[in-house]
Amino acid sequence: MSKAYCLKIPKKLGEKAIQLIKSLNLLNPDLKIAKEEYKLLIPLIREPSNAVMTRIKQDIDPVELSTSNFQLKRKKTQTLSAVLKEIIPSPLLLSLPKSYDITGQVIIIEVPPDINEYEKQLGEGLIKIYPNIKTVLSKQSAISGESRLRKYKIIAGSGETETVHKENGCLYHIDPVKAYFSPRLAFEHNRISNNVKDGENVIDMFAGVGPFAIQIAKRHKDVKVYAIDLNPDAFQFLEKNIKTNKVKSKVVPILGDAREIIERDLIGTADRIIMNLPKDSIKFIDTACTGIKSSGGIIHYYEFAGGNELFKRAKERLRNAVLKNGRQIKGIVTCRKVRATAPHEWQIVLDAFIH
Ligand code: SAM
Repeated sequence: MSKAYCLKIPKKLGEKAIQLIKSLNLLNPDLKIAKEEYKLLIPLIREPSNAVMTRIKQDIDPVELSTSNFQLKRKKTQTLSAVLKEIIPSPLLLSLPKSYDITGQVIIIEVPPDINEYEKQLGEGLIKIYPNIKTVLSKQSAISGESRLRKYKIIAGSGETETVHKENGCLYHIDPVKAYFSPRLAFEHNRISNNVKDGENVIDMFAGVGPFAIQIAKRHKDVKVYAIDLNPDAFQFLEKNIKTNKVKSKVVPILGDAREIIERDLIGTADRIIMNLPKDSIKFIDTACTGIKSSGGIIHYYEFAGGNELFKRAKERLRNAVLKNGRQIKGIVTCRKVRATAPHEWQIVLDAFIH
């Protein structure tokens, strides 16, 4: 058993809460989630700050911060620091990463500089803990470029990077080297697909391998989702994922620049547009205004933000950009932090009804 901070939540909010806590990098991967009558106790890696608790309460209500004893998920020897304790000098064990992304059979990790010389051992330690993992990748750069990719180094395993990831009941063929995918967006993919109503036309402007588009199509009988991406590799995975998840009749995959495609073929088509390109979404508001039906619709607008009044500034930017394009924001129904991207920096989303 191991004592840890935890969140007590009603069982029925379990899936939602777990995804949110994962997206905030707070879920303790080594401890088993516990049950207490009608509640789940979700173990955390640290005590959340007041700001983070406020953020959690926006989506999960009721929620209570507590501490409890939890069973270890695996034998004690299989925590990362236990596996590596004979291999890495003990002062450096404190530098071991507390979190990493597991996408299908690939682990992606950021190796702290002071344990760089032990990266191979770290990768092998992870494979010991998760024997079904085939490759461990270490991040070598920030995400950059139009296709939103980063450089990786293979630090353990076979080196194969194509894999299949399960998220919210859908299966995604992915390759982090070739196309963007983040397991930290699972909650957001789910939230948006829950917001969609039957009968809607949706444009997913920056669809990647399809996690918004495909989940929307899986969940709703009568929808049409136009899923656009300009990265040919992402498009290939998107097509494969549409097939795998049997949503061919509802998702139209389109390879190309969202601006060109919407302004040529999808003018006034959408009840809803998803703009998950946080670095540059603002530059595409003109196109989104063209794609939304003349009677109005919802834009899910993502950006990176930090500092004080982050929502106030994002709202102003969005309002001005929409006005410039001859349309108006009737209301902003949601402002939320999607995930932490760096200390005090967030990916945020505004759900705006535009007319
Ligand atoms: N929505 C996906 C998800 O949740 O995993 C992927 C989001 S990723 C941050 C942004 C994607 O937009 C990348 O796959 C990139 O190739 C694509 N992209 C960038 N600029 C684009 C453009 N002008 N038109 C279409 N796709 C674009």
